Amino acid sequence: MIHSVPICLPHLVSHTSRSGGSILLTIHTLNCGSLCPMVPSVIAPAMVCHCLLIEGPGGLILVDTGLGTQDLLHPMRRLTPLFLLAAHPRLSPEETAIARIRALGHDPGDVRDIALTHLDLDHAGGISDFPEATIHLHRAEHEAMVGGDLRYRRAQWAHGPRWALHEPDGERWMGFEAVHPLPGCDDVLLVPLQGHTAGHSGVAIRTGSGWLLHAGDAFFHHRQLLPEPSAPPGLALFQRLSDHDPGRRRHNQARLRELALAPDSAVRIVCAHDPVYLEGGA
Ligand SMILES: [Zn+2]
Repeated sequence: MIHSVPICLPHLVSHTSRSGGSILLTIHTLNCGSLCPMVPSVIAPAMVCHCLLIEGPGGLILVDTGLGTQDLLHPMRRLTPLFLLAAHPRLSPEETAIARIRALGHDPGDVRDIALTHLDLDHAGGISDFPEATIHLHRAEHEAMVGGDLRYRRAQWAHGPRWALHEPDGERWMGFEAVHPLPGCDDVLLVPLQGHTAGHSGVAIRTGSGWLLHAGDAFFHHRQLLPEPSAPPGLALFQRLSDHDPGRRRHNQARLRELALAPDSAVRIVCAHDPVYLEGGA
């Protein structure tokens, strides 16, 4: 499906940074799903599915997957008519994570691990394109899925992926509790940020100048991290309607704001759907 609204993002937005720390990581920023929401004047003229590809010491690590090839082939079953109507995704094969990875010159079979912020369809749709990868997820998110939460699309993991569930304990990191590194890579952390969903998490990656925190859908618009937070009214309404636990979401959003505004903060925070972060802004 080709979108008719002219305000959409370029096909490929990718830039690279080198990290220091204990190991050398290369991080690629990918848009794995352009969205052109209905009523753009009150939601956003364009949104993205912001994913990260990390060249780790033992292979490739993907942070979120956006929309996958099967979503494009079976959009009504895997993405739902409501999502297609409200988000109006571009459904472009070259925007899938597997196509982005090939375009970067990598073998998708080298994707060893996928860290998911949560299981909503616009984040987990691509996991079936990487059947050999281990899927890292907070245990509470997996339990909500197994418990039959209707917000999730079971068809997206019908291939039976190998789950690695992160327990609700762990270390402290930048004021956040129960943080776990991915096994074998201490420079990539799963950071619980519940509220949007039951087990929503961020993913922190050590860079040469500090940390990059992909906060998933813990916030939707860059202005929500400003001292006087705000968001387009339609986006704020969608956020409230999609909250699993509004109080926890607001609490975690406030903690992210505090971290972003700290004068000595060495953490760059991005969210999944605001295109400003793909362009290196905010
Ligand atoms: Zn999302």
